[in-house]
Amino acid sequence: MDRTEPNIVIRYCPRCGSPHFLPQKDHSFKCGSCEFHFFTNSAAAVAALIINEKKELLLTVRGIEPDKGMLDLPGGFVERNESAEEALIREVREELGLEIEDYRYFVSYPNEYVFSGFKVYTTDLAFICTVRDFQGMKAQDDISSFVFIKKEDVDYSKISGKSIRRMVQDFFNS
Ligand SMILES: [Zn+2]
Repeated sequence: MDRTEPNIVIRYCPRCGSPHFLPQKDHSFKCGSCEFHFFTNSAAAVAALIINEKKELLLTVRGIEPDKGMLDLPGGFVERNESAEEALIREVREELGLEIEDYRYFVSYPNEYVFSGFKVYTTDLAFICTVRDFQGMKAQDDISSFVFIKKEDVDYSKISGKSIRRMVQDFFNS
């Protein structure tokens, strides 16, 4: 049994505290006491595909769990009241100090992200981006470093998350 699944972690109604908070087939929960109906919908996240002048792809090294030390694309969760594009620009600035100049939507994949013992189902949206320049670039926030990798040197077993692996594959094959 996967102890991080919402159906296992969520045991009480968040409105009235009743233990009769039952998982439904559609991934929602219904409270048997107050009839509160709660959906655990997919959360949106963004990822940036950025290459340098040698056509090497920028990958970050995760500085936090899950998958600390593994490779990732710059990006993160879309916050409330934020567009995917705003999240993209904010995350790349926060993690690397880079300014995105231009972007275009590329592809999306579903993913699962376990944080604090709770699995969040996500919809990861990838954008192909260009940055103003790489001057003053610095690993910060939740990443520990970064690398530029050529298509033939990518070790997919070192990339965190099935959605990120597929985005990198799609990008190099496009
Ligand atoms: Zn309730």
